[in-house]
Amino acid sequence: MKAVTYQGIRNVKVKDMPDARIEKPDDIVIRVTSTTICGSDLHLFNGEIPNMPDNFIIGHEPMGIVEEVGKDVTKVKKGDRVIVPFNVACGQCWYCAHQLESQCDNANDYLHGDTGGYLGYSETYGGYAGGQAELLRVPYGNFVPFKVPEDAELEDEKILFLSDIVPTAYWSIDNAGVKAGDTVIILGCGPVGLLAQKFAWLKGAKRVIAIDHIEYRLEHAKRTNKVETFNFKKQDDLLGHLAELTGGGADVVIDAVGLDSEKTLLEKVETMLKLQGGGLGAFRMATKLVRKGGTIQVTGVYGMNYNAFPFGDLFARNITVKLGQAPVIHYMPDLYRQIKEGVFDPTDIISHRVRLDEAEHAYQIFNKKEDDALKIILKP
Ligand code: NAD
Ligand code: ZN
Repeated sequence: MKAVTYQGIRNVKVKDMPDARIEKPDDIVIRVTSTTICGSDLHLFNGEIPNMPDNFIIGHEPMGIVEEVGKDVTKVKKGDRVIVPFNVACGQCWYCAHQLESQCDNANDYLHGDTGGYLGYSETYGGYAGGQAELLRVPYGNFVPFKVPEDAELEDEKILFLSDIVPTAYWSIDNAGVKAGDTVIILGCGPVGLLAQKFAWLKGAKRVIAIDHIEYRLEHAKRTNKVETFNFKKQDDLLGHLAELTGGGADVVIDAVGLDSEKTLLEKVETMLKLQGGGLGAFRMATKLVRKGGTIQVTGVYGMNYNAFPFGDLFARNITVKLGQAPVIHYMPDLYRQIKEGVFDPTDIISHRVRLDEAEHAYQIFNKKEDDALKIILKP
């Protein structure tokens, strides 16, 4: 089968790899019909996530048709259409039973269950081969896959992002406790930030402010989601300006950036050192943009064993910080219904549709924010 493989920092190759196959009695194998590149894949691409061997298959936002099921699988059968979430989760442990599938106790042998397991996201996160491939092995076939109802007319691209960024963006707003009348600032106008803007409005926010430095993304945010936008590289005294505009800061600030993947490794190390000394990365920015007693939700991934944390600043201002890998599985059915009923439409973020074997170029433009790249769909 063809698959997108990691070949060292900023180098992916579409290669012929052994076909995915059933390894355990409750596995399924799907033939992938659509998949995408996530901002989280850029952290892998840029070498921020340790333990990525050469030829590791990347990808965690796939959907497709069930090709084969293990002998213990009853939830789906050959020929079913399924969406596969990025969380690998058993469905049986305490975490799965408490809506925290991203921390499943049984999905990560490598760290002995100390974090969850994720598809296509390094040996550290469970070593599962990913979904940017023609075929994909999905563990825990009785829990993980979301079966698309048979009557559904919805084409792949309408529902594909239920695999990750739609529930991730929804959870970002939900987990942060956004409520009617809130002012919400969202850092990052990538696919995750743009979807979070929609969900902030749907929760009844009175004001949604978006920040980035890539003009085409800011324009997209303003045009499609009717948010106020600021370019942090162009706006003089951004922090002072927003403090005044919001009357002392936002109720909730969402960091939908993480470690800035655009930077070189050296620049990132410099940023980390600066952050420890008080410089401004997205998270630091969030600490300055939130009001006293407000909440910061960190959805952006801080890879590379990033552990700098401005404890004193947060303590002094009674800030709540919430963060982590999104538990997407339990959100999928209701968000599927909302898409079907037209409550929101995630497709306006799609910028490119390309063949799987064009993935190398797709990674380059998504990473460099070239060619107006936003969300790129790969068709195996
Ligand atoms: P992306 O790279 O397309 O978007 C990030 C955006 O942030 C870019 O437009 C960039 O220009 C902007 N940016 C950089 N520095 C900034 C700053 N200081 N302030 C404001 N904006 C800044 O990625 P994406 O697909 O939108 O994903 C966003 C983040 O969410 C990534 O870190 C990704 O790994 C993470 N993510 C997390 C989860 C989770 O479960 N927690 C799930 C999916 C994605
Ligand atoms: Zn993702």
